[in-house]
Amino acid sequence: MGGTDDFVTTALLSEELSRVFPSLEGTMMSSLGCARYIEQAGPQELRDRAIPALLSGERIGCAAVTEPNVGSDPTALEARTVLNGDHYVLNGSKCWISNGEISDYAVVLCRVEMGDGRGGIAALIVERERSPYEARDLPKLGLKGWCTSELVFDDCRVPRENCLTDRGPGASLQLFTKNLQRSRCRLALMALGIAQAAFEAAVDYARQRRQFGRPIGEFQLVQDMVADMATEIDAARLLTYRAVKLLNQQTLCDREVAMAKSYSTEMAVRVTSRAVQIHGAYGLSPEFLVERYFRDSRVLTIPEGTTELQKLIIGRSVLGLSAFA
Ligand SMILES: Cc1cc2nc3c(=O)[nH]c(=O)nc-3n(C[C@H](O)[C@H](O)[C@H](O)COP(=O)(O)OP(=O)(O)OC[C@H]3O[C@@H](n4cnc5c(N)ncnc54)[C@H](O)[C@@H]3O)c2cc1C
Repeated sequence: MGGTDDFVTTALLSEELSRVFPSLEGTMMSSLGCARYIEQAGPQELRDRAIPALLSGERIGCAAVTEPNVGSDPTALEARTVLNGDHYVLNGSKCWISNGEISDYAVVLCRVEMGDGRGGIAALIVERERSPYEARDLPKLGLKGWCTSELVFDDCRVPRENCLTDRGPGASLQLFTKNLQRSRCRLALMALGIAQAAFEAAVDYARQRRQFGRPIGEFQLVQDMVADMATEIDAARLLTYRAVKLLNQQTLCDREVAMAKSYSTEMAVRVTSRAVQIHGAYGLSPEFLVERYFRDSRVLTIPEGTTELQKLIIGRSVLGLSAFA
């Protein structure tokens, strides 16, 4: 999904869009993630109605897991839903949800009580028009055009058929985890696009800016920064497209995706920081794009699993020993 089901093509578009407008890429990525979930788990009538509208951008979607007390560990969710006749009643709040404020559809992960003693984690597809919820923006350092929001569900009634729980225990969490791999890759691609833009700006500036009667690009210490930037961008691109290709082939690739996400997002922080350094004081001014690249890249090491969590996934794969219970 994403115009095409060829993830390599989607990845190329995602990187290129991020080079110029990463917040728009973030908005699209989150909305398409929601559409993908509805496609896999929603009732037919909802699929027919929601998916074309989400793909065309006429409607916006989001996926809500994070809560005020729940971040890296989604098994500790506090938001709850209870089955009441032909509806689930949802209570709780979510935070840092991409597209939350502007969303028409929210896929919400929560704790479920079935009334017959069964329970677990469920994903509810909440249609805002039919099952209203409150949302407000939570401002952040960068990627300001990609809104992140608090969502509040107060006795929100959701039709029973919009819940995946009936397909067996663990189905919701499994589907969420599966879809995470694509979004992690897209964050790696977003980081690549931003780093590439910062690199190009730094190279142009190093050629033009003159000090001591010469372009600063002639100084070896500036060339050292440029060489590191070029090398790290290439390394991140190779790691990321390897993961994209494996996902495209539907090969199990948790380790490769975690390497791509952690390396590429941390690389973008280093590269954009060097781009600021090469610009001197002008790099700190909002009148120069590198200032925004630096703020935007700093955001990316946190969503869809922080760098530390990605490293725990890599460590588990290498050692066969898990940090998670
Ligand atoms: C731009 C953006 C978009 C987002 N979009 C969404 C969205 O659409 N939907 C959604 O549900 N959420 C979203 N989030 C929230 C994001 O998923 C969480 O911020 C992320 O999972 C981390 O949770 P936390 O911020 O609560 O940090 P915490 O989990 O509290 O972590 C704090 C620190 O502790 C470290 N840490 C935690 N556990 C361990 C461990 N076991 N070992 C080592 N270190 C550890 C972390 O790495 C981090 O450095 C978004 C966040 C951002 C910034």
